[in-house]
Amino acid sequence: MITMKFGGTSVRDADAIANIVRIIRRSLDRHPVVVISAIAQATNILEQIGRSAERGDGGGAADLIGSLMERHRTIASELFPEGSRKEHITFFLGEIEETLRTLVRGISTLKELTPRSLDALCSQGELMSSKIVAEILGEEGIPSEWIDTKDFLITDDIHTRARPRLSVVEDRLKKVIQPMLAAGGVPVTQGYIGSTSDGVRTTMGRESSDYTGALIGGLLGADIIEIWTDVSGVRTADPRIVPEAKRIDHLSFGEAFRLTYYGAKVLHPKTMEPARVYNIPIHILNSGEPDLPGTIISSDPDPAVPGVKSVTSQCDVGILTLTPREKYDQKIFRDHVHGVVMENRLEALLTASSESHVVLVCKSVEISPIVMKSFEDVCDTAFIAGKGMLCLVGSNIMRTPHLVERTFRAVGDIPSYFVETGSSGDVFGIVVDDVEVNDAVRRVHAEFFQ
Ligand code: ADP
Ligand code: MG
Repeated sequence: MITMKFGGTSVRDADAIANIVRIIRRSLDRHPVVVISAIAQATNILEQIGRSAERGDGGGAADLIGSLMERHRTIASELFPEGSRKEHITFFLGEIEETLRTLVRGISTLKELTPRSLDALCSQGELMSSKIVAEILGEEGIPSEWIDTKDFLITDDIHTRARPRLSVVEDRLKKVIQPMLAAGGVPVTQGYIGSTSDGVRTTMGRESSDYTGALIGGLLGADIIEIWTDVSGVRTADPRIVPEAKRIDHLSFGEAFRLTYYGAKVLHPKTMEPARVYNIPIHILNSGEPDLPGTIISSDPDPAVPGVKSVTSQCDVGILTLTPREKYDQKIFRDHVHGVVMENRLEALLTASSESHVVLVCKSVEISPIVMKSFEDVCDTAFIAGKGMLCLVGSNIMRTPHLVERTFRAVGDIPSYFVETGSSGDVFGIVVDDVEVNDAVRRVHAEFFQ
């Protein structure tokens, strides 16, 4: 069997969905499990609905619900002929709309958007898109079966960044999905969302549908994990920043992890976890041009030749400096910092420490008021936002001759604040001002790839 995950742009409208039906049909003999993301922008809109409701702006939230539902209804009306499937979809969308309105009433009454209610809201996008895809496959004569992740993707209850309970998920997949496959069915399910064992919706982090695809593939022993997106594979830089960036044929799991962890949006970094554990290759493909070769990510048995594989970047990064208050000794200070990091599942891009302080370079969104407050129990904090980070990635990159010198020469007069060489020796990163990131990427890419 294989898993096929389709991202938001691959289901953005009726034409895109009709196109993925053709792609799935070509793979029927490989027994696909299909994982679907919310249609492009839906999750952002669902989050905005929550924020509007939290501010007490019920009217704004209602308008957003209206336009989101309209987009789904347009897709459904363009795809389905009159008949029972269309009625079924119309009814299903009506139920989702009712759920959204009920949630908004609750949130705007309390003027509080908890992570739990945010998950309840944000999970509706995948439910709608996956239902539409499952039904249209059925309409086209493909024996699809829609399955709610509530039936198998059981997670902990850390809302908005939940983690699956792997042994339970494995057990459920074998009970629920495997029999469907054995009977020749095509299971269609949702990325990104899961549920606690009590049936409360959770989500596993934005963009984590790729991870869902890999998790199902890993636990069911897939031949390959296919990730269908809007670019023909991983490139030597984000094509939105460097349009001439070249396609990369092959990446190791480690390279792909670092590339995505340090900002390449093409894939969620956690995707590589199950793929690596179960040694299943990931194939990145373009649903707009399905015959192009894409990029294969797999284990790399050969000792890699040092070199730059790709340049990646991210904006909205901040530098948090933590200094212990005098009365605390080093051990209490460091234990406390470590505790806050672990408890909040805070992901630092870079950490530096000296005897007098600890510096964390993180995505600014990671540093919530709650996180700051927890640090402030023991340390003085200083946070500088408005930074970005550029990284060069490749196995053994630090052994590339003249790497540092060439990078800094390329970056030229753009000031840099921090340098990351990574304990793995596979990344070389620098922190620059947010506004300079794209320029720095173009300069460094030109140095190494042109
Ligand atoms: P999906 O909705 O299918 O998950 P995403 O928007 O999450 O798609 O990811 C695809 C996007 O990733 C591309 O459109 C591209 O702009 C971006 N991207 C960033 N870095 C890279 C890279 N190195 N190679 C290819 N795409 C990249
Ligand atoms: Mg994505």
